[in-house]
Amino acid sequence: MEEKKVNENESNLPKNFIKEIIDEHNKSGRFNNKVHTRFPPEPNGYLHIGHAKSICLNFGLAEEYKGKCNLRFDDTNPVKEDVEYVESIQTDIRWLGFDWEKRLYFASDYFEQFYEYALVLIRKGKAYVDSLSADEIREYRGTPTEPGKESPYRNRSVEENLELFEKMKNGEFKDGEHILRAKIDMSSPNMNLRDPAVYRIRNTSHHRTGDKWCIYPMYDFAHGFSDSIEGITHSVCTLEFENHRPLYDWFLDEVEAPHHPQQIEFARLNLSFTVMSKRKLLQLVNENIVDGWDDPRMPTISAYRRRGYTPESIRNFAEEVGVAKRNGVIDVGRLEYAIRDHLNKIANRVMAVINPVKLVIINYPENVVEELEAINNPEDETAGKRKIPFSKELFIEQTDFMEDPPRKFFRLSPGKEVRLRYAYIIKCEDVIKDDDGNIKEIHCTYDPETKSGMSNSNRKVKGTIHWVSAQHAIEAEVRLYDRLFNSEDPTGDKKKDFLEFINPDSLEIKTDCKLEPSLADAKAGDKFQFERNGYFCVDTRYSKPGKPVFNRTVTLRDTWAKMQNK
Ligand code: ATP
Ligand code: MG
Repeated sequence: MEEKKVNENESNLPKNFIKEIIDEHNKSGRFNNKVHTRFPPEPNGYLHIGHAKSICLNFGLAEEYKGKCNLRFDDTNPVKEDVEYVESIQTDIRWLGFDWEKRLYFASDYFEQFYEYALVLIRKGKAYVDSLSADEIREYRGTPTEPGKESPYRNRSVEENLELFEKMKNGEFKDGEHILRAKIDMSSPNMNLRDPAVYRIRNTSHHRTGDKWCIYPMYDFAHGFSDSIEGITHSVCTLEFENHRPLYDWFLDEVEAPHHPQQIEFARLNLSFTVMSKRKLLQLVNENIVDGWDDPRMPTISAYRRRGYTPESIRNFAEEVGVAKRNGVIDVGRLEYAIRDHLNKIANRVMAVINPVKLVIINYPENVVEELEAINNPEDETAGKRKIPFSKELFIEQTDFMEDPPRKFFRLSPGKEVRLRYAYIIKCEDVIKDDDGNIKEIHCTYDPETKSGMSNSNRKVKGTIHWVSAQHAIEAEVRLYDRLFNSEDPTGDKKKDFLEFINPDSLEIKTDCKLEPSLADAKAGDKFQFERNGYFCVDTRYSKPGKPVFNRTVTLRDTWAKMQNK
């Protein structure tokens, strides 16, 4: 990333500057007080969190101003596009909670109209067929400090241009043999105005128009006209198009388009510890570094959904980071915070032991099962209560026991006491080991006078740990996901490949986890807080009846922030 980190307060202007522009237009009556935006993805990959930002912005503006927002596939490059992406993009936008109603459009639906516009330009002497090679065109273009050179084909007659363009359309040439260019200014300080390409030859089938066309319009040409045809008022795009705006306006002005939208640029969302380029995400998929576009470590919407992120939290995050006019990098911790913040309100608390060790309460009767009452969500009274079984043999976390603890260890250790959540205070009496010295069982006694919520005893202990009754436990696999990259800026070092910064510990699979029995009914996609362990969600792909797989959505605290401050 080339962008420098900017002070967040500085990058987030006090009032969303886009709304200020819209308010101005509404005051002057430029668009008759209408707000009509669009989200224009190219169907060449899955949507990621950056797209989510743009979706929230475009659909959000429409909602706020009681306007409309279209979904338009910007499918002008047949080489990279695919229907798989057309489907996934719609699923993801719906899941985020937005609705384009009947306004689903494809730029390819306008190919006929675009062609007519190209003819208008040619007839006006504002476009010509160039026959230089791609290399020559690049050479003639000049540099930001030196003007370009005019092509020897630039002054072809209107008739000749019309005839050649017709032949281009009829498939009489090979890719790259000719190209249609706008005739603007080869010495413009804005490189985009140095006779930009309008149409190129691509003898390739298109996923919607099939073999009907072998010439395809360039993005800058097609985009403004698509906006104009759909009556878009505010064409919101990312900052790298700022220098394209004069071209956007030039095309619309030259063909005297009946409707002329306003292009507005904002800074794209960049997240620390994350790559967002579709090309790089595709590489991660193709090289099997991740398990598909929806691998829960990916920054795609489909991956976030599978991981247990909620649409509300993503929308809150988009709102919270605001709209900036200067590029910067947002700490991924802010996204994780938004996820926790929402899950805290909606996820029921349950007890789950990820690294189990057996604990036996030696003075507890055999064959007795007590049903203890547990609160589902202290943040939400309506979530109610449930019963959890307690018995003589339990599982606790290995990390909640230490044979030789440091001074401030308030969990279980020989001779020490701890409270079992919702149950009793227990005391460690003995540790049973196997021949290799591994702990097999921890033997404890319990104090029957200390039952949670029931006892008059005001005996207090410093630690409370979670547990699961052994005979009632559900077996589960738990996948502990962490950040995919261990560098804040994986693409920042141009001498290194971003793959060098893959975090080798980004996935840890635990196959021997024990869950409380209330989780027997958990369905794919259900979300929980495993007490003391984080937020988890039932995986939609790998879960099987009787053996659920849980994805860790996010830890309870930002462990990375702590590490970085050390
Ligand atoms: P590319 O054009 O390189 O394939 P893209 O990220 O521009 O990738 P598009 O499908 O063209 O992908 O993007 C659709 C819309 O989403 C565009 O309006 C674009 O500006 C917006 N968008 C893409 N990435 C981000 C981002 N990181 N932050 C905000 N908006 C983004
Ligand atoms: Mg794009």
